[in-house]
Amino acid sequence: MDMDQMRPGADSPSMAAGVSQAPQRSLGTASDEVRENLLDLVPADAEARLQSFAAESGEPAYRAAQVVRRLWLNPVDSFAEMTDLPVTFRAQLDAHFVLPRLKLAAHQRSTDGTQKFLFRLHDGQTIETVAIPDGNRLTFCISSQAGCALQCSFCATGLMGFSRNLSPSEIAGQVRELALLDPPLRPTNIVFMGMGEPLMNWRAVGPALTILNDPRALGIGARHITVSTVGILPGINALAERPEQFRLAISVHAPSDELRRELMPVNTRYPLASVIDAAKAFDRRVTFEYVMLGGVNDSPDHSRELAALARECRAFVNLIPLHPGGAGNFTPTSEARIAGFARELRAGSVEVAVRKSRGMDIAAACGQLRTERTRRRAPRSAEEHADVDVA
Ligand code: SAH
Repeated sequence: MDMDQMRPGADSPSMAAGVSQAPQRSLGTASDEVRENLLDLVPADAEARLQSFAAESGEPAYRAAQVVRRLWLNPVDSFAEMTDLPVTFRAQLDAHFVLPRLKLAAHQRSTDGTQKFLFRLHDGQTIETVAIPDGNRLTFCISSQAGCALQCSFCATGLMGFSRNLSPSEIAGQVRELALLDPPLRPTNIVFMGMGEPLMNWRAVGPALTILNDPRALGIGARHITVSTVGILPGINALAERPEQFRLAISVHAPSDELRRELMPVNTRYPLASVIDAAKAFDRRVTFEYVMLGGVNDSPDHSRELAALARECRAFVNLIPLHPGGAGNFTPTSEARIAGFARELRAGSVEVAVRKSRGMDIAAACGQLRTERTRRRAPRSAEEHADVDVA
């Protein structure tokens, strides 16, 4: 598809207006230089804010719900396009609020239907979103941070280093942008397996989860939304406290502290046993993610140890083929050995799936598109999010 037809955020007036840095602040007059970003608010807060705004503007209270429907459910680029509202009210809204767009900087489509989008944020940061079709499902793999601080040894995003946390509107906005394409792309499933560590940005991921799930906003069932983490305990606890049935995936990648420390520096802060305890305490079924690294974590001993951990918390294991050419000097485990590893886990009474590699021809591994664009190095791969069937 022609890139220029795929530029939802290009030259939008909202982009030029910038992004509100103080979404919670109540701004009374049109002369304020910073307009409120309605997309940073969860639907209940947006509706409450719009109700008081409607009252001030002499409009009936039901206008608030009308506007909320046009933020996420049936989104538009600008207030001017909310043609179900009176023209004067649209102008008043525009004077007080913004609906910031993410600018589509690049788009690639794989022969297998996987599509990858690179979005440029208001401050020039870039993030990636991947749309992965599989049968009746369309899974969006979304980013929660620009870059990542965790430095997992096989991951390209880690090599970029951490730039900043995304805001709720930048996280949920990735889904909104794809709904604004022509034709729109609407997901059945969401996985937080793009750039960043979602549970190190709970402040924004929490509200973004609400926006993704709330029927007044994106309306995606909580069981179809998976948060993937290296095991940030305070974040896992925060997710566990949510009443919705959001799913949790844990990047395990090694069955012992010694090996895990080598692959994932974060293991020093949150050792494996504590992460397993948190998984046990989580009241919903957890998925383990396990990237297969040839000669590193793929022996029969490893599968035995991993099976014991998975049984302990009744986890479902997702084996992920290493995306070739990733960070570090790792070799992918052969297909035959991955199948053997899966058999060993099954023999150990563990449910397991092998993730399919998708979008190989478009560098659909997260981190890769941004890496190519910033020309830091020759293309290197990162996360492969392939078949994100998580239980
Ligand atoms: N920080 C979170 C979410 C982002 S990474 C987490 O670590 O879970 C999403 C998944 O992609 C993680 O399981 C990560 O380990 C995996 N991944 C990273 N680099 C990869 C690569 N080169 N090949 C395959 N999977 C990779």
